[in-house]
Amino acid sequence: MKVNQELCVGCGKCLPFCPQGAIHVENRKAFIDQDACVECGICVRQIECPRKAFYEPPEVNEWPRSVRKVFGDPTEKHQSTGVRGRGTEEVKTNDVTGRVKRGEIGFALEFGRPSIGTKVKEVEVVTIPLVEKGVVLEPCNPLTSLLDETGRVRDDVREEKILSAIVEFAVPFERFEEIAALVYDAAKHCKNTVFSWGLVVRYEEDGTIAAVPVLEKLGIHIPKNAKVNVGLGKPFCNE
Ligand code: SF4
Ligand code: SF4
Repeated sequence: MKVNQELCVGCGKCLPFCPQGAIHVENRKAFIDQDACVECGICVRQIECPRKAFYEPPEVNEWPRSVRKVFGDPTEKHQSTGVRGRGTEEVKTNDVTGRVKRGEIGFALEFGRPSIGTKVKEVEVVTIPLVEKGVVLEPCNPLTSLLDETGRVRDDVREEKILSAIVEFAVPFERFEEIAALVYDAAKHCKNTVFSWGLVVRYEEDGTIAAVPVLEKLGIHIPKNAKVNVGLGKPFCNE
């Protein structure tokens, strides 16, 4: 995004609105740090700029900067998946998609959050070691298409800053301890953004969760808070 310097009067009303802190005012003119901006579009859509000085230059829709917009602007859909935001519904539709089946554990590893963001290349701290171990990353996630066959982020997009991205995959339960330990270790090397991870599990018949004792053995803290997404689909519920 950019500010039309001819229109801006430097009032500073826009400063608190940018979730990345990318807008600055100097010499009574606002400007946008182009490296920090994730092209979320909030400044154009929601800031009541008295001069309507914000505008979207053509390069925002050109590769590779367009990566910022599709991962950051909630009004924009990823072409490959038709999903807005990070381009994946993760496991929120698992009852329909069956991405994570019985006997498997799903991982959703998120890099970046609103107010921090992430360079695309940060995901390599986990994607490279995971691919080395033969883990297949979720193909219906646009982030996967930004990686090469080794899990490395492609050269043309690695320095692009995005709001957040999720690395997704599932492994058989027999490999859970090995891969959870790998992820836990890899997270320690994530220095430039925030890293959070979610697990996709099913309850056993007796109401227990098989992953819990494995996590406890690894010394991984399990927070007690929870969010429940209830889906209506059924096709894969018995698999
Ligand atoms: S709100 Fe508009 S006029 Fe005021 S500083 Fe920001 S861009 Fe300039
Ligand atoms: S597009 Fe988003 S990140 Fe960029 S300046 Fe506007 S509000 Fe900030």
